[in-house]
Amino acid sequence: MIDLRSDTVTKPTAGMLDAMLKAEVGDDVYKEDPTVNALEERVAEMFGKPKALFFPSGSMANQAALKLHTNPGEQVICDKYAHIYNYEGGGASFNSGISCKLIDGDRGMFTAEQVAEAINPPDFYHSPLTSLVAVENTTNKGGGACWDFFELKKLRETCNAHNLGYHLDGARIWNAVVKKEEKAVQYGRLFDTISVCFSKGLGCPVGSVLIGDESLMKGAIRIRKILGGGMRQVGYLAAAGLYALDNHLERLEEDHKKAQELGSVLSTLSCVKVVEPVETNIVIFELNDMISETKFQQKLIAKNIHIIGMGGGKLRMVTHLDYSDAMHTKVLQTIQDM
Ligand SMILES: *Cc1c(COP(=O)(O)O)cnc(C)c1O
Repeated sequence: MIDLRSDTVTKPTAGMLDAMLKAEVGDDVYKEDPTVNALEERVAEMFGKPKALFFPSGSMANQAALKLHTNPGEQVICDKYAHIYNYEGGGASFNSGISCKLIDGDRGMFTAEQVAEAINPPDFYHSPLTSLVAVENTTNKGGGACWDFFELKKLRETCNAHNLGYHLDGARIWNAVVKKEEKAVQYGRLFDTISVCFSKGLGCPVGSVLIGDESLMKGAIRIRKILGGGMRQVGYLAAAGLYALDNHLERLEEDHKKAQELGSVLSTLSCVKVVEPVETNIVIFELNDMISETKFQQKLIAKNIHIIGMGGGKLRMVTHLDYSDAMHTKVLQTIQDM
């Protein structure tokens, strides 16, 4: 089966499994797992932040960040496409008792001006108190789009001017950094907290890290415990993360190239209305009235190729570590023949 539904479908490589097997472990709830500690230190250093904490999932890392930045009744500003709003089970309200003020952005991205407009005046006690701005890079529902770093800097100034926290959902920050030839430390300097995922493009079975400043992160381990995310000998999983940083980061370029090629071929099809700009490893496209999404997907499934619907008439393909050159050749040929 050729699985282009998501970059989360990868399985650990032999090298990764070997690294996991050889990991030195201890009880991480006591902070005695040397491999988890090593991964946290490594990620903290990459982003130039004092603290990092290992989490079982990106959703939990984001949810912990929301909790660290807010009090119940307050509000976070994010895009209408944001993962924290759409795909974390309503956790913002469930865990933190906060609401989301949605910005009608462009492919999951917005401007500092739009944020300034979305901030509720703090003295106007009828409205929720705005306390946080959350951005996503790359954007998931926005089709793997990368933020302009200059806009992110302007947003930092807006947050400073209004005393707001600034969180980055960096589930796919690795893709952005590789694509734009940026440094992780740029992001560390800008944001108060950053969540990163190892279970997407980097090919790990599980694992995320929340990075942040000393004062905010003091409460992170307690919140992780409350959310049920305190784990024991998880150095086996952290070892996969360390292995991925050494072996799977640079190769994201290959995923980006394959996604570009998929986008190019799709855009030549008469049944495709529009292919959104392809910047990293996600391809989002819409069909015209000639064919339904279900029919299109069925035609691919008949060739053993699986893609996913995003709602609103959009379809998505995501390239990843387990999507080989041979699979790519077959998929390009199959689409071309449709
Ligand atoms: C995948 C993803 C997450 C985290 O998801 P988990 O499945 O909980 O690890 C967070 N944000 C974005 C943008 C994502 O794509």
